[in-house]
Amino acid sequence: MSDIIALLPDAVANQIAAGEVVQRPASAVKEMLENAVDAGATDIRLVIKDAGKTLIQVIDNGCGMSRTDASLSFERHATSKIKDADDLFRIHTKGFRGEALASIAAVAQVELKTRLHDQELGTHIKIAGSEIEVTTDCQTQPGTSLAVKNLYFNVPARRNFLKSDPVETRHIIDEFQRVALTHPDIAFTMHHNGNEVFSLPAAVLRQRVVNVMGNKFNQRLVPAEEYTDILKISGFITKPEFARKSRGEQFLFVNRRFIKSPSLHNAIIRAYGELLAPGTHPAYFIYLEIDPSEIDVNIHPTKTEIKFQDEKTIYALLHSSIRQALGKFNVTPTLDFEQETSFSTPPLQPGQIVKPPTIRVNPDYNPFRTEKEKPGNLASRFKQPIASDWKELYQIVEDSEAKQAEIRVEEERKPSDGPGVLLMHSEYAVTQIASGMVMIHLKRALERIEFEKHRAHLQTGTGTSQRLLFPQTIGVPAAQVAILEEQMEDLTAMGFELNSLGGGSFSINGIPSGLESEQPRGLVEELLEQLTHLPTDLDIPAQDRTALAVARSAVRQWRRRWKTAELKHLVDELFACEQPYYSPTGKATIATFTHEEITDKFD
Ligand code: ADP
Ligand code: MG
Repeated sequence: MSDIIALLPDAVANQIAAGEVVQRPASAVKEMLENAVDAGATDIRLVIKDAGKTLIQVIDNGCGMSRTDASLSFERHATSKIKDADDLFRIHTKGFRGEALASIAAVAQVELKTRLHDQELGTHIKIAGSEIEVTTDCQTQPGTSLAVKNLYFNVPARRNFLKSDPVETRHIIDEFQRVALTHPDIAFTMHHNGNEVFSLPAAVLRQRVVNVMGNKFNQRLVPAEEYTDILKISGFITKPEFARKSRGEQFLFVNRRFIKSPSLHNAIIRAYGELLAPGTHPAYFIYLEIDPSEIDVNIHPTKTEIKFQDEKTIYALLHSSIRQALGKFNVTPTLDFEQETSFSTPPLQPGQIVKPPTIRVNPDYNPFRTEKEKPGNLASRFKQPIASDWKELYQIVEDSEAKQAEIRVEEERKPSDGPGVLLMHSEYAVTQIASGMVMIHLKRALERIEFEKHRAHLQTGTGTSQRLLFPQTIGVPAAQVAILEEQMEDLTAMGFELNSLGGGSFSINGIPSGLESEQPRGLVEELLEQLTHLPTDLDIPAQDRTALAVARSAVRQWRRRWKTAELKHLVDELFACEQPYYSPTGKATIATFTHEEITDKFD
């Protein structure tokens, strides 16, 4: 039999490697920005067109490359950053694998212009699908400009796999932010489709964080610092009262490299402990510096995961330094988590009388009783008469639930009204159906109802707007301006009237009809939050994402005191939906319990 093993041609090998290194436009952005940082640039510009699908360009004023180095830079395993295996344990640069440029050039049309600072002329190289097309001298600024056009032009399957522009843009912004937050001493700008997304002058870290995240972060930050022999911790955490319901602004860097570490994340979150309202997440910007020989960054191709030799110690140090930071700045939670608590303190009804709190005293209490008869002793408590308490207990029931129950009973007597609906644990609506009983997940049901409404408005262009008598203005952080602008057409179709006033300010002139009861500013803020942090892997069509974001912001106050009539209306609306049984993201909205299941319980 003849030999059958052949070495892959370079172009093919590069395309395969590209799949790993350049998963999406954002991965090319990351590699290119990091190369510019490694080149010692003090000014780095990122220019994007169509979410990076048409153009990704990075222009830096770093060291530049000689003609030979420029040609070599597109070869696989060509790197100036390590020379031998030992260097792997002393890595201080971002790159070291020498495969980014080769991979990018395998799947795009690339144009490089680069010049050393002490040379008159620079080098211009054009390369597409790993084929060098042009190498010439050129006039150019000292430093490097690398333009990557039509990513995956030669791998259509891959190109089709890319997500919608807003999703890919979000990924690019994530990468940009990570690099910008790692290097406050470098000036960065980012433009997308001709619009400025970020303009970040060189600054101290705190200023950089605020420039990247938006001015409102200034008052939220608390510094964290801890220097020990093995580990240096610096950066900022945010006060617990500013924790948000979406995770998002959580940045952990190790030796100036953004990493994801569930365990170290845990060390930070656990330090907050009880200070966080359930289900909320604080933002943090934490920088660890550790001897490179103590970590292994080479275990993941995209290098966001690393291994620590001594993770336990690092965990403990990080945990204690965050606790200290929270303590030192005397951070106490304000008991105002907005809508989170609104359900437990319902607004006063007209005419409602507030009872002063009463202190319960056990008139039978005898301090000289023997140990086993103490009121805390379960057995003796059961034996104790509850005579002094029962009236009060009854009173409580009558005040709230019983009154509602009475109304329901009355309603049930009128056959036209159908069965009553009961609110359970503030989260579910329970009602009877012919075959038994149904429990409705309030939040998901509301999401489904609002989602279908806004999606229909978007598809048919029938969304109407309720104009505000007094337009409100909001400041939108740089990262979110681009996102908002991209969605503007859809948002307008759904009834939002938002106008840019420049400099990240927007005026809210109208909100969709039907959402009049909403606080316009709160609604739009939540909408931005949703648009920014909607997970990218949701199983819904790209064109429905904006409607979902609107729906989620519209229902943000779902935990509230519900009137029976409102609950009934909700049930009707849910069952009038095209797909009442699932939330927009495919989670169950209702659970049914048949007569059989119920009678079984009483067997
Ligand atoms: P790595 O960064 O892992 O070395 P890359 O493929 O990203 O591999 O880059 C290959 C080489 O090209 C780098 O080692 C560096 O010498 C050179 N290079 C890439 N980008 C730049 C740049 N913006 N400025 C100067 N040199 C660069
Ligand atoms: Mg590199």
